[in-house]
Formats: sequence, structure tokens, C-alpha cells
Amino acid sequence: LSRPSSVRKVLRELIETSEVYAEQTELFAAELDVARAQIEDLTNELKTVRESALLDHLTGLGNRRRFDMAMDAFVEGRRDASSDAPEPGQPGGVFSLMIADLDRFKRINDTYGHDVGDSVIRQFAQTVRLTVKGRDVACRFGGEEFAVLLPDTGLLGARHVAERIRQTFAAQSFVLADTRERLGSLSASFGVAEHKPEEPGSALIRRADAALYRAKSNGRNRVSTAD
Ligand code: GH3
Ligand code: MG
Ligand code: MG
Repeated sequence: LSRPSSVRKVLRELIETSEVYAEQTELFAAELDVARAQIEDLTNELKTVRESALLDHLTGLGNRRRFDMAMDAFVEGRRDASSDAPEPGQPGGVFSLMIADLDRFKRINDTYGHDVGDSVIRQFAQTVRLTVKGRDVACRFGGEEFAVLLPDTGLLGARHVAERIRQTFAAQSFVLADTRERLGSLSASFGVAEHKPEEPGSALIRRADAALYRAKSNGRNRVSTAD
């Protein structure tokens, strides 16, 4: 081994080996870049899928699942913050629930067909979207029923929001695209309730629903508040 020729041989082998390592390292780096790009694509895809799992596909509002998650977060947030005075804009403040249901909607479907019914549902959703603020959680509860969670909003404020949506929607006129036939005036009824400290979400929904029922039986196209 001490002979110069064998030292040279070992050195040559070492150099060759490190060249192989260098090539492999370069290869690994390239593979790592590909893997990183794939992870980024998958992360973006997952984000899109997650968001779309919480959307109502007819209206683009939140769906029932989005609503349930937001309700849980609002109720929990208020419980956690109950020991301190909540800061405006932070979770833990007062919030209200508005539930809306389109009036005599079955007649629209029966007279003009389901597609026209769907357009009316979309138009109502658009009215809601344009009226509420960014932090409000507007959802399609199912069918022709909608629910909006209003953070930092008491009963009077919630009533005001509902009243604005009601008036804006009732003032719109609907015309059939093909025949120009007028649909006549459409309306919706609303129930609003302010969350009580410690109240479960289900109880809040029941009170808002009872208020909505009163709005219906008092003649529709109106807002009723829960006590
Ligand atoms: P009320 O004023 O008492 O609410 O009367 P209504 O006719 O609106 O109430 P009802 O609950 O009897 O009917 C709701 C109708 O909504 C039943 C169904 O035909 C219709 N509907 C539910 N979901 C959809 C939907 O996704 N698209 C369409 N086009 N119609 C729907
Ligand atoms: Mg209904
Ligand atoms: Mg209805």
C-alpha cells in the first residue's frame, strides 16, 4: 500500500467515487425540486377542494357545513371570552343569527319550472351577498332557506340587516328571459335572534326559526325578532 502506484490507484478510485456522488447529489436535487413542485400543486389543490367542500354550488354562498362550523366557532369563542370583556372585532363578542325563507316559492317552481326557481334562489343569494359585510357568514341553509351569522351585531343591528335585504329583494322585478313575461313581485320572510351567553347553537337556531315562523303567519314579506 505504501507503493506510489497503489496510492495513485486509491486516489483515482476516490476521485471517481466523489464524481459519482456529485452526479447523484445533482440528481437528488433535481428530484427534490420536482417533489417540491408536486407538493405545492397538491397543497393548492387541497385548498381548492377544502374551500369548495364548504360552498353551496348553486349560489356560491357557504353551505350547511360552513354554517355549522361557523356557528360552533362563534359559540365557542363567546364561551372562551366570557371571563374578559370582549374586544370589538375579536371572537367572543355578541352575535346574531338571521334566517330567511323565500315566500310562496313552490308556486314559482310549479308555474315557471325549476330552472326559473333556481335563478330566483341565486338572485336572492346575490342580494344577501351585496348587503352583508365581509365578516358576516352567509350560507344557503338548504332549499330556499338561508342563514347569516352576524358577528358583533345585536338584535337591533340584525333586524336592520334583515330589513335591508327584505326591501332590496322585494323591490326587484323578475322577467323571463325568453318571453319577457313578468314574474310579479317576490318576497322573503326573516327571523332574527341574538345569541345569549352559554346558549347552544341549536337553541339559537330554534329561536330564529320560531321568529321566522311568526313572520310567515303574520303575512310574510316581513322580519320578526326572537325575544
Ligand atoms: P312559504 O311562504 O310558506 O315558505 O311557502 P313555500 O312555497 O316557499 O314553502 P314550501 O316549503 O312549501 O316550499 C319550498 C319549495 O322550495 C319546495 C321546493 O319546490 C322548492 N325548492 C327547494 N329547494 C329548491 C332548489 O334548490 N331549487 C328550486 N328551484 N326549488 C327548490
Ligand atoms: Mg322553506
Ligand atoms: Mg318558502
